[in-house]
Amino acid sequence: MIETDLGTVAYDWLICAMGCRIAPEEITGLAEVMGKDVYTFYTLDGALAFQHALDNLHAGKLVIAMADMPIKSPLAPLEFAFLADHYFRQKGVREQMDIHYVTPFSGAFNQPNANRLLSGITQEKNITVIPNFNIESIDANKKTLYSLKGDSVDYDMLCITPPNVGPQVIELSGLGDGMGYGLPVVDGNHKLIGVLTEADFLTAIHVKGDSAVKQMFDVIIRRKRAKKKMGSIVDDIMTRDPITVKEEETLQHAIKVMGMNKIKRLIIVDDQNRVKGVISRPDLVRLFLMKG
Ligand SMILES: Cc1cc2nc3c(=O)[nH]c(=O)nc-3n(C[C@H](O)[C@H](O)[C@H](O)COP(=O)(O)OP(=O)(O)OC[C@H]3O[C@@H](n4cnc5c(N)ncnc54)[C@H](O)[C@@H]3O)c2cc1C
Repeated sequence: MIETDLGTVAYDWLICAMGCRIAPEEITGLAEVMGKDVYTFYTLDGALAFQHALDNLHAGKLVIAMADMPIKSPLAPLEFAFLADHYFRQKGVREQMDIHYVTPFSGAFNQPNANRLLSGITQEKNITVIPNFNIESIDANKKTLYSLKGDSVDYDMLCITPPNVGPQVIELSGLGDGMGYGLPVVDGNHKLIGVLTEADFLTAIHVKGDSAVKQMFDVIIRRKRAKKKMGSIVDDIMTRDPITVKEEETLQHAIKVMGMNKIKRLIIVDDQNRVKGVISRPDLVRLFLMKG
């Protein structure tokens, strides 16, 4: 059953298409610096503040960085880099601007053909691409971005694509994984056998094919065929044996497990390996703010 402002609706099948929201709090130091030389165009207020800041920017290093996937539109940050190049040329200050593009992909884009083409365009436009950079934290005083590997990039102004999470209603419904999407997968006895997140879909899509769209349909078609043979689409691409902690473990232990394995959510199970819940980084941030 779904409860809405207009009443309760029963369903046999439910398709959730409620989009996602940015979650700056997922990157250490980011939420605090938004609006202070750090901007995003993924909200209306953010875009307006960024426009104002760009109007006053005539020289320096503009870094355009995207957080880990999934994000809304993997191409949008690169489109912005090209627009920024055009904007500064129009303004007559391009020579004074140093534009860097920081990405977790291994090149300007994650698909080989598009990467070849787009890398060429970034070179023509004198935009420096910094690949394989997974943002871990931001130091506002030093105006520096740090990666999980410990690399760093300085900026005068930063345009960031923050991580995205699903709408809160998905979390509240119990359908999500604490990040607003993703599901623990259980067998007929409600025992945990895997976890299915958007990363699994992205990995499956990444493996074969040419363009992202072709790949996506290709994968779906192959998965449908696989379904007949193997009996389960989820079973085909989910991550098996996910990392878990027992419900009686301490919170400190759970945080340690998340930190050591660099995971953002952790499934809690009982002695029978049945799912009891999920904790996520936002849950922990909320907890520490409450203790605060
Ligand atoms: C800058 C940018 C550029 C993009 N460029 C492209 C592109 O070139 N090509 C492309 O294919 N895609 C592009 N995309 C991606 C595309 O916009 C999204 O993939 C698409 O809009 C996602 O559709 P959706 O229905 O899942 O979510 P949305 O379009 O976000 O729609 C979700 C809807 O659900 C509603 N909703 C949320 N919670 C509730 C609730 N509790 N109750 C009722 N309603 C609710 C929201 O108000 C919203 O109307 C781009 C995205 C961005 C941000």
